[in-house]
Amino acid sequence: MSAMIDETHDATRRSWVASAQGSDFPIQNLPLGVFSPTGGPPRGGVAIGDQILDLAQAAASGLLSGEALAAAQAASGATLNPLLALGAAPRRALRRRLFELLSDGAQDQARVAAWLHPAADCTLHLPCAIGDYTDFYAGIHHALNVGRQFRPDNPLLPNYKHVPIGYHGRASSVRVSGAPVRRPNGQQKAPDVEAPVFGPARRLDLELELGVWIGPGNVLGEPVPIGEAEAHIAGLCLLNDWSARDLQAWEYQPLGPFLAKNFMTTVSPWIITAEALAPFRTAQAKRPEGDPTPLPYLMDEADQATGAYALQLGVLIRTPAMRQAGIAAHRLGQGPATNLYWTMAQLVTHHTVGGCDLRPGDLLGSGTISTPDDSGLGSLLELTRGGKEPITLPNGETRTFLEDGDELILAGRAVAEGFVSIGFGPCTGVVAPAPQA
Ligand code: MN
Repeated sequence: MSAMIDETHDATRRSWVASAQGSDFPIQNLPLGVFSPTGGPPRGGVAIGDQILDLAQAAASGLLSGEALAAAQAASGATLNPLLALGAAPRRALRRRLFELLSDGAQDQARVAAWLHPAADCTLHLPCAIGDYTDFYAGIHHALNVGRQFRPDNPLLPNYKHVPIGYHGRASSVRVSGAPVRRPNGQQKAPDVEAPVFGPARRLDLELELGVWIGPGNVLGEPVPIGEAEAHIAGLCLLNDWSARDLQAWEYQPLGPFLAKNFMTTVSPWIITAEALAPFRTAQAKRPEGDPTPLPYLMDEADQATGAYALQLGVLIRTPAMRQAGIAAHRLGQGPATNLYWTMAQLVTHHTVGGCDLRPGDLLGSGTISTPDDSGLGSLLELTRGGKEPITLPNGETRTFLEDGDELILAGRAVAEGFVSIGFGPCTGVVAPAPQA
């Protein structure tokens, strides 16, 4: 069972790595990623405070054994796909052993200290070689907010509450936090002109989403039952599904998103594991009176009881002028991840119900997560009412959509009474000018 509470969630435990306390990465988090220290090849690592623990060194140390050793060995290469393929038990064994080694008063502290690299001296990479990336549309308030702009009387299409909506995205252009986001060129056609023009997208937007990292896959033709979907979720990350709204409006019918979405997707570097998230599981929001009950293949009592996550998600922006003036990033909004109409398990099960095989290291996007009110909108399309109402920043600048040089930051934090809060680390990107058309 991945959603198990054990000693690694004990709020009274601290790490001898002093920077761990109060950071996104306290000893209760221990997220998995891939990094390279200066001059070294990429290998698996675990974030602890402002340090990264080298899993290749840990595997070679003689201080790990059994399943924990097998997990560290599987994480010693340039991608975590082999580790994710192993499933929850070895991952959990590694977590428990590292927790022991990093705890205040641990024996072997001096030996373990030699496995630590200052994160500031390291380069972070994508944690997995992503075979496939699928983006869902499970944020119901985003679907409503955007739907209202086009169909004020009938914002949700009739399928929305019956079937998890999604499309197959592009894995090749997923990048880790910090990579520049090149504004795409493409076709645009304003409603009042006759023919499309080609040039830089002018309505460049963000989408605040959660990413799901797939652990063990399934065999082609063998769907994952809803009661077993949990075991296929290795962990979560933040995901920015950058979107060119003008390209999207012209191209999307009848087959859906294409070039408006495929130029780039940014993920936060660390896999916040299912084990780390166990204390932050919460009930799936009750469906409003009159909504259909999901079909039986999507319905599981345990999943409804604990299938959502108590996370606070935020969007921040920092323009070049703000950077120059030393003004901190401005928070555009914040809201809970419980604003999803489907659980992650339902997304996994639906993805495979026709027989499609998921593979270790595949990536799912949740869909844009927005609040029902204006406090936590996950896209500029919503914040500016389709570009009609510019937002004003602290220095007086205004924005409808993103401009060149703007930095966009997604943030996520898990909070639950009685447990140490854990963070996701940043998911950032600075907009770079479009290539010469
Ligand atoms: Mn999206």
